[in-house]
Amino acid sequence: MTEQEITLDSLTRELIAFRDARDWRQFHSLKNLIVSLNLEASELLELTQWKADGDVENALSEPAFRARLAEECADVLLYLLLIAERADIDLLQAGAAKIARNGEKYPVEKARGSARKYTEL
Ligand SMILES: [Mg+2]
Repeated sequence: MTEQEITLDSLTRELIAFRDARDWRQFHSLKNLIVSLNLEASELLELTQWKADGDVENALSEPAFRARLAEECADVLLYLLLIAERADIDLLQAGAAKIARNGEKYPVEKARGSARKYTEL
């Protein structure tokens, strides 16, 4: 197998092939995909439970923690790809548009160094 660049599109195609080979599309309603994404996000959150900020940062040097973190990030990513495919959303375009909108809501001169919401700047 030759090594090819992995892109969001290629990953989505691989994921759809994985799903369809198992006849799982029938379970992948948009609602179920959104629920599943949030459950996986909770598994990501669970990695930080009972830990201080510094403990989580320090855990990055532990291979077992890094492996679990990567796995849960992958789970979130894969459900996000399935949601985007199901809803016909271009994630790269949507992400770029969102950064642009956030730039308008949080101009550097007002938001720099502040954790305030844009409505309170
Ligand atoms: Mg998981």
